[in-house]
Amino acid sequence: MSLWRPGPRKIDRWLWGRVVRRIAGPAPAGLMLGLMAALTPSASPALGAPAPGAAPRPLAVTVDDLPVAGGSLHADAAERRKITADLLEVLARHKIRAVGLVIWGNVGTAADREILRMWLDAGHELGNHSAGHLDYTATAAEDYIADVEAGRAGLAGFLSSHGAALRYFRFPMLCEGETPAKLAAMRAYLQASGQRNLHVTIDDQDWSFERPWVEARRHHDTEAMARVANAYLESLHLSVRHHESTGDDLAGRMTPQILLLHANEVGAANWDALFTWLEDAGHRFVPADQVLADPLFTEPPAYVGTHGPGYWDRLLSVRRDDAARAAARALLEEQSAAWNRGDLEAFCAVYADDATFVSPSGLTQGRDAVLARYRKRYPDQAAMGHLSLEILEMRTAEGMEVSMLGDARPSRVHGLTLAARWTLAYPDKEAATGLTLLVLRPGPQGWLIVQDASM
Ligand SMILES: [Zn+2]
Repeated sequence: MSLWRPGPRKIDRWLWGRVVRRIAGPAPAGLMLGLMAALTPSASPALGAPAPGAAPRPLAVTVDDLPVAGGSLHADAAERRKITADLLEVLARHKIRAVGLVIWGNVGTAADREILRMWLDAGHELGNHSAGHLDYTATAAEDYIADVEAGRAGLAGFLSSHGAALRYFRFPMLCEGETPAKLAAMRAYLQASGQRNLHVTIDDQDWSFERPWVEARRHHDTEAMARVANAYLESLHLSVRHHESTGDDLAGRMTPQILLLHANEVGAANWDALFTWLEDAGHRFVPADQVLADPLFTEPPAYVGTHGPGYWDRLLSVRRDDAARAAARALLEEQSAAWNRGDLEAFCAVYADDATFVSPSGLTQGRDAVLARYRKRYPDQAAMGHLSLEILEMRTAEGMEVSMLGDARPSRVHGLTLAARWTLAYPDKEAATGLTLLVLRPGPQGWLIVQDASM
């Protein structure tokens, strides 16, 4: 699956070439700023105008880390209020009804509650973003759920005194659990407490531009401000493009989107340009309910990982995983069928050229040697018997890779290990049985066995 549509591939490759050398750099904003300094305006990638007559793409705007994101940068109550007023003004100008996600632990003062009231008065919905903004990957499920529940209880109390209800929860850093048990624990808690996971389809790095923006503004450095603004917008353009094409490729149609933004000052100054760009590129702003009503969200992928990628990347990862397991099952079925028709050549065709075979009698290396070994031990079909393979366990090897924007996303499946029980049945004697551990790798010609330990 290609990361990008064919159109902008050239520019992306050009960017990538520069990014890979800087991948160990500090924050994504720093990365992007350095990158943008090298970009000429004419090389700036654009989403492109929608085809004439094309239906608009529904897009919900969600805003994280209320009352104000990057809180330590904005200690002054008047500044926090101004940022909020500016954000709300831009949302109103583009007729956007957003969902704001509140970190209840950051709602410390009457002025903070006043900021939340401003969001409600402007017609936006507020959802739970936990009390302490903990990283689920680094926190035990029990402690994490207690923190999320504290956030829910605090915000729900505030909302009910304003005649509003709480419906949504968003995972801090989008980390939903690095084990199946933790994933299930939070899903059960959310269901029992009546909160719906407000997924993010367009994950991005908008938060990382806040500090450079605020520093430039405080130094009245208009040139630096322009540079940060340009980088902020370009970074968002690239994220929108990547996630939309991933979703569309997966679904085979135009997918509705949920954009992640943060309630910060760089946003207040640049959302107008962002929303205008999105409108020109054929988006229509809709409430989050409308996007979540799409069948693609009925059964969220059971993605398990240490990082929090966007929704389509999760879906893609789970599908890749399923495909790898299906390929491994098919390979074993093919192998059994070959064995049972007495075709050792076909049976061994799924071993890699340099495969290693480990058995109690020793080590055999290379496909040809493995085939010779089988031929010697099983000279005819009577000796071969009838093979059946029962898969006992499969594990896929995958991890994270880094996007050009410094964003972690799931990698391809690089390999698969498989434990199975083999049984050889004979008409005239007792069956033989044992265990095998296989290591499989994907290659240009499909999946192959690279290591086989049979006992
Ligand atoms: Zn957050």
